[in-house]
Amino acid sequence: MDTQETAVIKGKAVVPGVALGPIAVVAPRPAVPEAGAEVDEGQREAEYERFEQAANAVTEALKERAKSLEGHAADVVNATAGLASDRGWRRKVKKTTKQGRNAIDATVTATASFVEMFTANGGVFAERVADLEDVRDRVLAHLQGLPEPGLPVLTTPSILWADDLAPADTATLNPDLVIGIVTRRGGPTSHTAIIARQLNIPCVVATGPTDVEISSGETEGMISGAAGELTVNPDEDVAKQAVHEWQQLAEKIANWEGPAQTKDGHRVQLLANVQDGPQAASAASTAVEGVGLFRTELLFLSSTKEPSVNDQAAAYGRVLNAFPKGKVVVRTLDAGSDKPVPFVEAEEEDNPALGVRGVRIAWDRQDILERQLDAIAKAVEDNDRGDAPTWVMAPMVATADEARWFAGMCHERGLTPGIMVEVPAVALCAREIMQEIDFVSIGTNDLTQYTMAADRLSSPLAHLNDPWQPAVLRLIKMVCEAGAETKTPVGVCGEAASDPLLACVLTGLGVNSLSVAAPSAAGVGAQVGDRTLEECQKMAAAAVAATSPVDAKKAAADAG
Ligand code: PEP
Ligand code: MG
Repeated sequence: MDTQETAVIKGKAVVPGVALGPIAVVAPRPAVPEAGAEVDEGQREAEYERFEQAANAVTEALKERAKSLEGHAADVVNATAGLASDRGWRRKVKKTTKQGRNAIDATVTATASFVEMFTANGGVFAERVADLEDVRDRVLAHLQGLPEPGLPVLTTPSILWADDLAPADTATLNPDLVIGIVTRRGGPTSHTAIIARQLNIPCVVATGPTDVEISSGETEGMISGAAGELTVNPDEDVAKQAVHEWQQLAEKIANWEGPAQTKDGHRVQLLANVQDGPQAASAASTAVEGVGLFRTELLFLSSTKEPSVNDQAAAYGRVLNAFPKGKVVVRTLDAGSDKPVPFVEAEEEDNPALGVRGVRIAWDRQDILERQLDAIAKAVEDNDRGDAPTWVMAPMVATADEARWFAGMCHERGLTPGIMVEVPAVALCAREIMQEIDFVSIGTNDLTQYTMAADRLSSPLAHLNDPWQPAVLRLIKMVCEAGAETKTPVGVCGEAASDPLLACVLTGLGVNSLSVAAPSAAGVGAQVGDRTLEECQKMAAAAVAATSPVDAKKAAADAG
């Protein structure tokens, strides 16, 4: 594509903030060399020593770097140094060199088997894969007499664009020169995300591959952390205005302490979207009041076997425990389509987003859902939650019959049932469906995809896949009206709630709770707190009446 053309790369929001500057490309890892010739028996010991010297050099250099750092940054670099000196890994290299493989080949093979093991273990182990690969690349560089891979030398404040940052590199980031970080890989709890949060550098992760051309140090970019976007070659005036608005807001955010309410005291519950205990614990350190969406399927993405009820209950308990007095909304498995869960065997389908996903899996496998509800009930019982509400909701419900069926299973276990509003049919029949359950939570990610008939993962359809689409806003309005009439709480837990301006529109539409990625919470709380309820209502009316997402956003901004 034309290098001057504006393009938006979307990923997962990690740290909010808007910054404009040249994009510095972090060189991809060096190509892993082809397997070399077999080493003569008499040379094999020396070959292992060659590896050991390289691994020692890497360990020492990392330890040396850690000495110049403090706190968590030093811990991260020391942990990477620990991997470079790990006995198990070195033993595996030794064994491989003894079999006749050269040092480079043995390093690659041994690391691959550890990567496989870490990935299979999932969770925090899987997140250390980047560390392992980093250590491997450093050792390979030493073995080949090359400089160690790492960050480019920055002379001007820049946005980093990387596959993923190695922990040892993230630990030495200088926030004066690194004004944004965007990675193709990683996740909201990877090292890059942790360090970016700690340094408060706007950060977006997991964009996936892209064909947008970026020339290091030359292509201009604008990172919008809360929106999870990197705009390449942005319009200069628009970008400067966005940066200015962010700086003004940043000051308010820094001083915001919660709870969320409009300027005139209308309360909106601000909750967090989480996927496991550590994420819930980190959300608990912000001003959110609880969890509005606990995506349970993400706990088990690497399990090939269904976790036992006890194991599930323990994992759910860790999230409940992070908010012993706050509301926690647990979503039952949303398996299928963009979230395949290995232990749920699914038929191959031509059109998985419109296929057997979410609660539909339980049509044939009600036993899996029942065991999950047993585990949730056990977690509630084991964790003595007193009056703290634990709500349970089903994803991808489309009819009143499904809502009733799900609610029945929850009632049998003393659980409070709700459903997600992700299918337009549910918004259209909200009044009737609300008779069956106790609350709804609008999943704007899927509601937008299904309303606009636009795959949420498709970049060419990104302009359709925008929750500011008036059609989506009108459906949300219908749900809020039905909620007010039937006295059913209406939350929003899709990414739309993390957009501070849209959060004001949602408040104006009558949404009772907003569930957001924890790093976005203060930004949302501060923006909602900056307006009266009447202003939010005017913003909502203006956005709903618009004919395009751009107009809706502008109309809302002008009205508020
Ligand atoms: C949604 O669809 O908006 C939602 C919150 O669910 P998920 O993104 O996990 O599909
Ligand atoms: Mg969804």
